[in-house]
Amino acid sequence: MSVLIFVDHLHGHIKKASHEALTYGAKIAEQTGDTAEAVVLGNVSEDLAALGQHGVKKVHHVQSDALNTFDSQVYTKVIAQVAEQSGAKVIVFSNNSSGKALAPRVAVRLKAGLVAGATALPDISNGFVVRKAVFSGKAVANVAIKTDVKVVSLNVNAFTISTSEGTAEVVPFNATVDAPKTKIVGSTKTSGKVSLTEADVVVSAGRGLKGPENWKMVEDLADELGAALACSRPVADAHWRPHNEHVGQTGIAIAPNLYIAIGISGAIQHLAGVNRSKTIVVINKDPEAPFFKAADYGIVGDAFEVVPKITEAVKKIKG
Ligand code: FAD
Repeated sequence: MSVLIFVDHLHGHIKKASHEALTYGAKIAEQTGDTAEAVVLGNVSEDLAALGQHGVKKVHHVQSDALNTFDSQVYTKVIAQVAEQSGAKVIVFSNNSSGKALAPRVAVRLKAGLVAGATALPDISNGFVVRKAVFSGKAVANVAIKTDVKVVSLNVNAFTISTSEGTAEVVPFNATVDAPKTKIVGSTKTSGKVSLTEADVVVSAGRGLKGPENWKMVEDLADELGAALACSRPVADAHWRPHNEHVGQTGIAIAPNLYIAIGISGAIQHLAGVNRSKTIVVINKDPEAPFFKAADYGIVGDAFEVVPKITEAVKKIKG
C-alpha cells in the first residue's frame, strides 16, 4: 500500500507547493505505516531522485510528449493508472490550480472520497479525519473520509517543507496516454515578474493609491523584494491593474510568507483571499482601517511617503 503524491511542475521546474505536498504525503505514510511514492508526468529538469529528501521512496515517472502540456483529462487518467497499479490508498495533491482540476477528477475515477484544502495532517486515531478551513477561513471543519481510497488536496503554505538525507528510486511508468483534446498554441505572461500563486512575497495595493499612474512605487518595492504584484478588486474593476492580480473571495487566493497591503481597507472579501499569508504588513493612513486587525505589523501613514522609504531601506539592506 502506498501514499501517492502528485508532483506539479511548470516548464520542468517543480513547484514549491509540491515540495509541501511531498512532505505532507510522506508524513501521512509514516502515520499509516505505508510507503510514500510520487508521480511525475512529463519532462522535468530537476533530479527526481532528490525528492527522496522529503521521505518519498519511489518516483513513478511517466514520459510522453502528450504530457508536456497540462491537460486535466489526460493527466487524470494517467494518475489513476499509477494509483491503481501502485496500490495507493491515499492520493495527495496541492490545492493549487492543477490540484483543483485534478483531485476531484481522480477521486471520481477511483470512487474515492475527497477533502479539498486540507490544513493539517489527518487524524487517523479514529478513521481518517482531515481538517480544512471553511467559510473563507472563519471556521474549521473536520471531515472524515470513509472510502477505501482517499484523495486529499493540501492548501498551499499550510505545511512546512522538511528535508533530510534520502534518495528516491525513479521508475519509468508505462501508462496509456490519451491524445489531448485541447492544444495550447501559445502563452503570454500578462503581468508581474513573479507568479502570484507561487510567490513567497506579495506586494498588493488598493484604491488608496488613487490611480494607475501611482503603481510605479508599488512595482519598485516588489522588484526590490523579488515579490509578485496583487491588487484589490475595485482596482482591477477600474482597469488600473489586470484582473489576474485581483486577490480575494472573487479573485485569486494566495498564501505567501509575506503579504504587504498598501492602501487597502481590509474588507472581508479581500481578507478571504489573503488571510492564509504567514505575515501580513498593512500600510494605511486610517488607523481605524479594518485590515489592521488582521495585520502582524501595521504602519499608519501615507503610502506615498511610507512606500518609497521602505524601498530605499530594502535597497540599503541589500547593499
Ligand atoms: P477602499 O475600500 O476604498 O479602501 C482604500 C483604503 O486606502 C482605505 O482604507 C483608506 O484609508 C486607504 N488609503 C487612502 N489613501 C491612502 C494613502 N494615501 N495612504 C495609505 N492608505 C490610504 N474585494 C477584493 O479586494 N477582492 C475580492 O475578491 C472581492 N470580492 C468581493 C465580492 C463581493 C460579493 C463583494 C460584495 C465585494 C467584493 N470585494 C472584493 C470588494 C470589497 O468589499 C471592498 O470593497 C474592496 O476590497 C475595497 O478595496 P480597497 O480596499 O482597495 O478600497
